[in-house]
Amino acid sequence: MSSTSSPLVEIDLEEKLPKLASGKVRDLYAIDDETLLFVASDRISAYDVVMQNGIPGKGALLTAMSAYWFHYLQSEFPALQTHFLDRSLPPILESSMSLTRLQALRPRSMRVRRLKIFPLESIVRGYITGSAWAEYKKSGTVNGIPLPPGLVDGQRLETPLWTPSTKAELGGKDENITPAQARGIVGDEYAKEIEKWSLDIYAAAAKRAEEVGIVLADTKFEFGYDPESKAGVILVDEVLTPDSSRFWPKASWEENLGKQQPSFDKQFLRDWLTSQGLKGKDGVVVPEDIVRKTAAKYLEAFEKLTGEQPNAS
Ligand code: ATP
Ligand code: MG
Repeated sequence: MSSTSSPLVEIDLEEKLPKLASGKVRDLYAIDDETLLFVASDRISAYDVVMQNGIPGKGALLTAMSAYWFHYLQSEFPALQTHFLDRSLPPILESSMSLTRLQALRPRSMRVRRLKIFPLESIVRGYITGSAWAEYKKSGTVNGIPLPPGLVDGQRLETPLWTPSTKAELGGKDENITPAQARGIVGDEYAKEIEKWSLDIYAAAAKRAEEVGIVLADTKFEFGYDPESKAGVILVDEVLTPDSSRFWPKASWEENLGKQQPSFDKQFLRDWLTSQGLKGKDGVVVPEDIVRKTAAKYLEAFEKLTGEQPNAS
């Protein structure tokens, strides 16, 4: 990963493939009716706002990390369905793009199944912090679930909790909801499956992270379904990346209870935004040293968790 805050390098494929959507971080292109090219950009968002400049190498790193986890989870849970197909580029791109553009695109991309997405962010928390901590301080609950008194920020929960949120449209803000509200949104059957898979995957990933000295404090999954089949819920989107998870160094977790935990994710950027009074503001240019430190944190998390180098895959 480069260490300078070069301008955001975007790769637009619209003249080759129809662009279906552009999220805060990813661009989705249709390869055919069943298949998408899922491209992670170097864009970085915090508090639901995209920064003006990017983190060089971040898209490639997120794609490699998600691919790593899809493989890992598939071997842990043979019954788990995921949207991941492979890391190939469609022939139309291979045959028509310059080598330089292909080299930039390939590490950021994966082919995935094109699915309907449940309008739910399926969050699992093994530790209390962030918006869960804010709610607990106010009302003693997390997503409406009562918790014992006396917890401190960063404390490990007795058992990991499923704490879903709504999935807001681009520009909107996700709202934490109770598990009962989530069941109301997707229906009891699907909610049960989503909750079960989320908790099982969290447990497996938290164990894996712990082995390499990382606490997986919380993480967010998304699930989809194939309207053509009744085969159940399918794990989609990115998985267990620093964008979708809070990773903390295990060695310093205990001494930092009740305080801000140092972290391998974008907490660095979040803290800087808060300290500058820029939380939630549009058009923020992140200074070079924050870009560099954020890039280094992403890379460290990647190397620790996967044991690989991001450009190797
Ligand atoms: P959103 O608020 O829409 O989640 P985001 O900014 O998190 O936005 P990105 O991560 O940039 O979005 O883009 C990924 C988008 O692609 C998400 O909206 C996600 O729901 C959607 N998505 C993920 N996997 C699939 C899939 N297999 N088929 C269709 N859409 C998908
Ligand atoms: Mg996303």
